[in-house]
Amino acid sequence: MRLHIAIDGPVAAGKTTLGNALAARLGILHLDTGAMYRALGLTALRRGIDTQDEQAIVDLCRKLVISVSYGEDGQHTFADGEDVTGQIRTPEVSRAGSMVSRYAEVRKAMVKLQQKLASETDMILDGRDICTTVLPNATVKIYLTAATEERARRRWLEMQKKGMPDTYEEVLQAVKDRDYQDMNREVEPLRQAEDAVLMDTTNMTVDEEVEAILKIVEEKR
Ligand code: C5P
Repeated sequence: MRLHIAIDGPVAAGKTTLGNALAARLGILHLDTGAMYRALGLTALRRGIDTQDEQAIVDLCRKLVISVSYGEDGQHTFADGEDVTGQIRTPEVSRAGSMVSRYAEVRKAMVKLQQKLASETDMILDGRDICTTVLPNATVKIYLTAATEERARRRWLEMQKKGMPDTYEEVLQAVKDRDYQDMNREVEPLRQAEDAVLMDTTNMTVDEEVEAILKIVEEKR
């Protein structure tokens, strides 16, 4: 049986950092599914397509080929063959990714692609609907969260390191806005799956998170 670790949670809960750390420890791949919605959002922005226009976004999603590959530095995400890994982390793309993820047809296409990738190998997947929709039978299901202010602080520090000028207050507001949108959209809103383990990482280090999950993996196996 495949080892699938599903991690869901709100904005900046540390899902990607944790996914990467776990992938290194277990020697398996980590799929950051948010990067796929971001790649679609980025392409819409570049082409001047209104992210409120559901039909236009669905049409774009049908035509755009989103793919991933893995290198020494982890996942690379591609839109029509172009490596957009470095372009999808801006606040504008974060908003656009969240906007386009509201549409049922978009979600259907993304879920299908994610399920296909996961069916081929052992994998850690992180996102918003992995435990509930993408892999309801995953070996281990985690709902990762932390206090909103702590999540905003982590995201702000990350952005500071990259030289982005946003203030802490702006980042905090953006985190709240995107959480609201992700938790209140009509299609597959973010929620904790009934059988997911809740991990509040407000006062945990990444090492502690990794150890806690490895213990759960051992128990499940
Ligand atoms: O995880 P990340 O912040 O990169 O995700 C970007 C956006 O993509 C989220 O705000 C959410 O709206 C959407 N998303 C989703 N389902 C997933 C992963 C991400 O709806 N599985």
